Amino acid sequence: MASDGDSSGDPRVIGLVLVSHSARLAEGVAELAAQMGGGDLRIGVAGGLDQPGRPLGTDATLVRRAINEVWSEDGVLVLMDLGSAVLSAEMALDLLPEERRGQVLLTAAPLVEGAVAAAVAAGLGEPLEKVAEEARGGLAAKAAHLGPEAAGAAPAAGGAERVPAGASPSARLTVRNRFGLHARPAALFVRTAARFDADVTVANVTAGSRRVSARSLNAVATLGVRHGDEILVQTSGRQAEEALAAIRRLASDGFGEPADVGEPGPPAGPPACTPPPEAGAVLRGLPASPGVAVGAARRLQAAPVEIPDTPADDPAAQWAALERALAAVAADIRRTRGSVAGHAGDGEAAIFDAHLLFLEDEALLEPARDGIVHGRTGAARAWADAVSAAARAWDALDDPYQRARAADLRSVGDQVVRRLVGTPSPIFPGGEGIVVAPDLTPAETAALDRSGIQGIACAFGGPTAHSAILARSLGIPAVVGIGVGLLDVGDETLLVLDGEAGTVTVDPPPDVVQAARDRGARWTKHKTEAQKRAHLPAVTLDGVTVPVVANVAVSHDVPAAVAAGADGVGLLRTEFLFLEADHMPTEDEQELAYRQAAEALAGRPLTVRTLDAGADKPLPCLPLTPERNPFLGVRGLRLGLSRPELLVTQLRAVLRVAAGHPVRVMFPMVTTVDEVRRARELLDEARASLAASGVAAPARIEVGIMVEVPAAALTAEAFAPHVDFFSVGTNDLAQYTLAAERGNAEVAALGDPLHPAVLRLIHHTARAAGQGGKRVAVCGEVAGDPLAIPLLLGLGIGELSMAPARIPLAKQAVRATDTRLARRLAESALAAGSAAAVRRLCGGSPA
Ligand code: PEP
Ligand code: MG
Repeated sequence: MASDGDSSGDPRVIGLVLVSHSARLAEGVAELAAQMGGGDLRIGVAGGLDQPGRPLGTDATLVRRAINEVWSEDGVLVLMDLGSAVLSAEMALDLLPEERRGQVLLTAAPLVEGAVAAAVAAGLGEPLEKVAEEARGGLAAKAAHLGPEAAGAAPAAGGAERVPAGASPSARLTVRNRFGLHARPAALFVRTAARFDADVTVANVTAGSRRVSARSLNAVATLGVRHGDEILVQTSGRQAEEALAAIRRLASDGFGEPADVGEPGPPAGPPACTPPPEAGAVLRGLPASPGVAVGAARRLQAAPVEIPDTPADDPAAQWAALERALAAVAADIRRTRGSVAGHAGDGEAAIFDAHLLFLEDEALLEPARDGIVHGRTGAARAWADAVSAAARAWDALDDPYQRARAADLRSVGDQVVRRLVGTPSPIFPGGEGIVVAPDLTPAETAALDRSGIQGIACAFGGPTAHSAILARSLGIPAVVGIGVGLLDVGDETLLVLDGEAGTVTVDPPPDVVQAARDRGARWTKHKTEAQKRAHLPAVTLDGVTVPVVANVAVSHDVPAAVAAGADGVGLLRTEFLFLEADHMPTEDEQELAYRQAAEALAGRPLTVRTLDAGADKPLPCLPLTPERNPFLGVRGLRLGLSRPELLVTQLRAVLRVAAGHPVRVMFPMVTTVDEVRRARELLDEARASLAASGVAAPARIEVGIMVEVPAAALTAEAFAPHVDFFSVGTNDLAQYTLAAERGNAEVAALGDPLHPAVLRLIHHTARAAGQGGKRVAVCGEVAGDPLAIPLLLGLGIGELSMAPARIPLAKQAVRATDTRLARRLAESALAAGSAAAVRRLCGGSPA
C-alpha cells in the first residue's frame, strides 16, 4: 500500500530485520509481526550463530545477509535484542556498500513490541523514519496499562535504601576489604550483578568518581575503591531490587574474601607473599620422568610478539578471529583454574575468574571492535590497543596493590595477541637450566624450544599431564605436582631435580650437589649401554618378539624416534599439527606432514591417530563450545563424528600417504561399536572421493581403536570384528576407571594405571583381541615404564608404544622378561587389592 506522500505509484514497503541471539526467538517475533502487519512485508531474521553446537550468539555476516535479503530502496529498519546484537548490527552496517548504508536505520526500540509496531506501520506504507518512530513507541501501550512499576513494590530484601517511585533502587555501601575492590572482589561484584535482569551501575562516592557499568571488570576495578571507601550502587530493570539485595549481601560478606584479607588491619599493603623456600629445602612432587638434573631455575619468558600494523580489509573476518582467540584463551584459563583449584583450593583459583572476565569485558571489546570496524586495523592490533588503554587506567590507581593488577590484564591480553599472531607460548630463556612453570599447556609444550632444558619442574599437573609426557619424550628428568611453593623459587636458584624420587632440592649444599651429579652420571651410563642395543629387536628370554614403537607428536620427531631404536610409530598424536596452526590444516598440509613421518620411518609402520581434540585439548583454529566437564564431553572420535568434514579431510590425507607406505589409522576415545561403524563409513567415503578424483588410495588400510573408555574395554569382543588392532590408552583409561583427572596432582596417586581395576580391563581387552585374532598394544605412558613391562606382557599385550627416549630401556626390560613367568606375575597382579600391592609384586616401591 502506498502512502499519500508516495508519488511513484509503487507501494512503499520498507524492509525490517530482526536480530537476536536466538534463531527461534527471531523467527517467532517475525511470525508475530508478519501477522500483525499483514500485506507483503519484508521481514528478515538474523538469529543465533551459523555454527554447529553454538546456537546462541549474533553474527554480523548473518545480519548483513538479512539486510540484503529484505533490501528496499525505501529503507531497512533493524531491531535488535541486546549486547552483541547491537555490535553485530553496527558491524553489518559497516560491511554494507557505501550507497546502501545511508538507507539502513538501527533502532533502540524493544525487539518484540517494536517489531510489531514497525510491522503495522510498514504494512501501511509509512516511510522509514515514521516506522522507526512507531517502533520506538512500541512500549507505550503496555506502560500506560501497567503504570509505574515501582509503585506498590514489596520492600527491598536486605534493607536496600528505598527510593522514590520510578527512581532506581540504590544503596551506599562501605568497602571493608583491606585492599579495596581489587580484581578478585571486583570480579565477584561483576559476576553477581550479571546474574540479574537489571542494569547495575556503581560509583566511588569517596573519590567522587563517575558512575560506571557493573558489567565491566575494568570499569569497576579502576574506580580505585580502597579500604573504607563508600560506593553508590544503583540498579534498574526487572530484577533491580533482587540485584541490589544480592550486592548488599556480597558487600557484607567481604566480597568473597576471607576475613584476614577482607577485614581491615595493620599493616596496610599487599597480602604477604609466602617467603621463597629456604636453602636446602626439599620440595616433594610426583615423579614424571626419570633421571637427575642439576641446574639453575629458569622461568619461561614471553617470546617477543610482533603485531602486524597492516590495515585489514575484512573487518568481519578480523572480528571472528578475535572471537576465536578469546574463546581459546578462555579455555586455557579455565583449564589452569581447574588445576589450581584442585591443588590449592578455590580461593587461590579465584583470580582466574577475574582473568576470564577480562575476556568478555565490553570495556575492552567495544574499543577493539571500534578499531577493527572504523580504524580498519587487524584484530591483534585493535585488541592490543584496547588492552593497553585499559591497563593505563589501572596504572593510574593510587593503591599499589590495585595498580599491580594491570600486569594481570596485560598478561591475559598478551595471551590473546599470541593466539592471534600465532606465537602461542612463552619460551625457555636459552642457555642451560631447569624449567620452572605452573604447568605446561599443550600449546606451550608444542612451542617450547627444547635445547638447553635440563629438567622440568611444574607446580601442578600429574604424571600423564602434557608436561610430563614432553619430558619423557625428550628423555629429560621431570617432577610435577610440586605445589605453589615452587613458584616462589627465585630465577637462577640452583636446583637438584630427582625425576625418580619426585623431589626438587632448592639451593642444596655442595655434598648434595656432588651426590646428585654422581647419580646423574650413573643414570647416563645405564642409558648409554641400553642405547647401544636399541636398534636390535626386543625379544623376550623365551623368544617372543615384541615391537617397541614410538609415540610422537609431530613428524619432525620421527627421525629422533628411529635413532632411539623405534620399530615404528604406534601413536602419531596429530592434534599437535593442528595446535600449531592458526587455521585448520588443509588436506595437502596434513598429507605432507604424514608423508614426512612415513618417509622418515623408511618402511617401518606408522599409526596415525585421528584428531584427538575437544574442549579438554582446545585448538586455536577450532572454536568449540565450552563444556562443564570436557573430559566427558565431545572429544576424540566424538568430535570427529560431529564434524565429519574435518575427519574426512584427515582420512583423505592419511589414505594418500597409505598408498605408498605401511600406514594404519587409529580412532581415539571410542565408546561404542556404532561409532566405529560410522568412522569406517567416513573412511570409505574418503576413499571413494579420492578414487572419483583419480587419486591413488589403498583398497585396504589397517584400522584400529584406542581403548581408553572402560565401556570399550569391557565390550572389546564386540569391537574385534570391526578392527584390525586395539591400542590401550592407559592415561585416559586410568582416569576414567578410577575417576581421577589425569592433570590433577591431588588425585594423581589415585589414577595409577597399575591399579588392579585397570589391569583387569587391559586383560579383558587383550583376551578379546586374542580370541578375535587381533593385535593389541598399549600406548599410554605405562608402556614405557620398565617396571610395568613384564606385567603388561603377562597380561597378553603384544606391542608397546612410548616416548622415544624410553625405547632403549624398555627394550632391555623386554629382553629380561620370560613371558611364562610374566603370566604368573599378571595372575597375581589381577588378584591384588591395590596399585601399591601390584607395584610391590613388580619389584618397585608403591608410587
Ligand atoms: C592415552 O590416553 O593413554 C593416550 C595415549 O592418549 P593421550 O595421552 O594422547 O590422551
Ligand atoms: Mg588418550
